[in-house]
Amino acid sequence: AWKALHNASDMEEQTVTKCGERVHIFANINLLSDLPPARRFKAEGVGLYRSEFPFIVRNDFPTEEEQFAIYKKLVDQMDGRRVTFRTLDIGGDKMLSYYSNVTEANPFLGMRAIRFSLQNKDIFCHQLRAFLRAGAGGGSRIMFPLISSVDDFVAARDIVYECMDELEREGVPFSRETELGVMMELPSAVEVADELAQEADFLSIGSNDLIQYMLAVDRTNEQVSKLYLAHHPAILRAINRIVSAGITHEKDVSICGDLSADPRMLPFLLGVGLRNFSIDMVNAPTVQRLVSGIKIEDAEEIANSLLDFGRISEIEAYLVDHSLVPE
Ligand code: PEP
Ligand code: MG
Repeated sequence: AWKALHNASDMEEQTVTKCGERVHIFANINLLSDLPPARRFKAEGVGLYRSEFPFIVRNDFPTEEEQFAIYKKLVDQMDGRRVTFRTLDIGGDKMLSYYSNVTEANPFLGMRAIRFSLQNKDIFCHQLRAFLRAGAGGGSRIMFPLISSVDDFVAARDIVYECMDELEREGVPFSRETELGVMMELPSAVEVADELAQEADFLSIGSNDLIQYMLAVDRTNEQVSKLYLAHHPAILRAINRIVSAGITHEKDVSICGDLSADPRMLPFLLGVGLRNFSIDMVNAPTVQRLVSGIKIEDAEEIANSLLDFGRISEIEAYLVDHSLVPE
């Protein structure tokens, strides 16, 4: 963990690199109580709303109306700034006490996230309808967690279209323009990044899970935490591939895992072409300050050097030599 070095009052309205390139900082939101700091730290919108939290704190699945009330508050409090809703990501380490499923030997490899939503279409549709209604004014987006194939994405998107048709028939307002995106968190998704970028409206890199699944290291298991390495060459190359796929197909790419606010990796992320960072907003002043000290051409040189290394040790040595932050 690193310390936030500045206060919200030190934030500029816009985040710009030393060479004048615009970088966007969005907020990761778990609960509505995360919104006041997001506004105070001048988030340009919500880059990741973890919608499972209203589900976890209850005793039963929330109704469409209950969800709509929460999501609408989120949209209203962001004053027209972009809000990216993430559909339910339960399973893995986030279980619902009221959903008694068979116990799974490997929950992180089991009925999690989009898999749960595709299996439980009624629960999925209630949530999608609530998102669509909350985003009726435009500017909100929906993304799906743990997508493993283009087929997964198309199946989820088809259900969104069904919900849209249903709302239209009922005369309920929503926006047909709501963009639909893929969270890039699985090695299988990286392998078909090109096709996903072609199909989806946007991609968002979920680095917490991407690292976990690429390296086969449980993100919650202390015993193997030393093996959970964001700077493993495979991770750096995967991120580069995802961003390149987005650039090729002219689709927006963002990063919303913890890596997005890691000062050590910021030059690399900018160097491969990332410009959208969704972060825990307490880190915003630090990220903004570091970005403002970086020139894109230097970041590109750093990224190219890092992508050439095949060993973790080489990357670690390089990062020590090129550190932006005193240890
Ligand atoms: C991630 O996996 O990086 C991510 C942002 O999603 P979560 O941490 O909620 O799994
Ligand atoms: Mg994730």
